[in-house]
Amino acid sequence: MKPDLFQAPDYYLLDDLLTEEHKLIRDAARAWVKREVSPIIEEYAQKAEFPKQIISGLAEIGGFGPYIPTEYGGAGLDQISYGLIMQEIERGDSGVRSTSSVQSSLVMYPIWKYGNEEQRNKYLPKLATGEMIGCFGLTEPDHGSNPGGMITNFKDMGDHYLLNGAKMWISNAPFADIAVVWAKNEEGRIHGLIVERGMEGFTTPETHNKWSLRASATGELIFDNVKVPKENLLPNKSGLGAPLGCLDSARYGIAWGAIGAAMDCYDTALRYSKERIQFDKPIGATQLQQKKLAEMITEITKAQMLTWRLGVLRNEGRATSAQISMAKRNNVAMALEIARDARQMLGGMGITGEYSIMRHMMNLESVVTYEGTHDIHLLITGMDVTGFPAFK
Ligand SMILES: Cc1cc2nc3c(=O)[nH]c(=O)nc-3n(C[C@H](O)[C@H](O)[C@H](O)COP(=O)(O)OP(=O)(O)OC[C@H]3O[C@@H](n4cnc5c(N)ncnc54)[C@H](O)[C@@H]3O)c2cc1C
Repeated sequence: MKPDLFQAPDYYLLDDLLTEEHKLIRDAARAWVKREVSPIIEEYAQKAEFPKQIISGLAEIGGFGPYIPTEYGGAGLDQISYGLIMQEIERGDSGVRSTSSVQSSLVMYPIWKYGNEEQRNKYLPKLATGEMIGCFGLTEPDHGSNPGGMITNFKDMGDHYLLNGAKMWISNAPFADIAVVWAKNEEGRIHGLIVERGMEGFTTPETHNKWSLRASATGELIFDNVKVPKENLLPNKSGLGAPLGCLDSARYGIAWGAIGAAMDCYDTALRYSKERIQFDKPIGATQLQQKKLAEMITEITKAQMLTWRLGVLRNEGRATSAQISMAKRNNVAMALEIARDARQMLGGMGITGEYSIMRHMMNLESVVTYEGTHDIHLLITGMDVTGFPAFK
């Protein structure tokens, strides 16, 4: 793979909107990605393996629980810092960002928000350092966009709960130490349970043959009469709103992360367009290639503005789920379009692992689907402006 020469585009001088702390955090994450992720990620994506050796580094740059209070081992940062960290990690690879998002927003967040003090103290510090890795089980084989239809369930057996069912497409599942699992009780109410590796009847088979997010491990969660201790139930929130609250936090991070992938594709294509000579001139001197680059930087700039504003609203506690849906949908689609155009700009070289673009493009095909598909987020915006839920 080519050396990482990444230079971040900032066409509207948006750095002026960031504090010195934001910039320090962003730059530290950027330097770490250049040093630790870029040199190895292509090889790990090719062999379809998560590079476990980067876990402690991810923890050090604030990749695990950036906004979780420091008393629980988190970094205690604001939402803009969280977004910037996700942007930089996904600039390296969406699969690495997925591991970070799942750990932060889908495992640490529900334990912090819906757990009790004992659960927080038991799990959060170890999750923050990466000593423990978690996964989030919501999607089932027959219930993806409609998780409320889930059939995974638990029964109260007096001194423990008995959990049965199966989850599919679960990031980090093959090596996670714990799983935050969403299941229905006997009344059909959804609750979160912390299931630990080693509990009898709990298995996590890996999902193979993915062409996307190859450097992120994906698997199933199978529960065959798993005895879950009663103290592992998250007591402070139930109903579908509980997992959806976690998804809000993760989707917000994805909206930033997608910008990272887009910036990397744009920067690579821009550099290539100045160096690649055809018909005795750089391809960047042709109108057609300039059109692609001009549209890329315009869309990146718009997405940067969108996420920055969303971050301010989240810091103020005013961002709505529908606003987050809009940013996730817009930014991932934007990144995917940019990856496709950038791939074309590199001609045949664009399909090789010498450059990051094809890997980003394939990764983004998952990002556009998980955490709510492109179409479902459009329907959420549609429902928000009309009041009619068209997906039901
Ligand atoms: C690599 C990867 C990692 C993942 N990680 C996790 C994870 O860690 N934890 C987890 O719980 N899940 C995870 N997921 C699951 C992901 O969130 C689901 O794939 C996603 O929600 C879509 O569900 P589905 O695949 O069952 O598609 P479906 O829900 O079957 O949708 C198929 C198509 O139908 C469309 N559609 C569905 N309903 C409607 C409607 N009412 N109107 C119009 N169109 C509709 C969808 O937009 C989509 O295009 C992951 C998925 C992938 C690919």
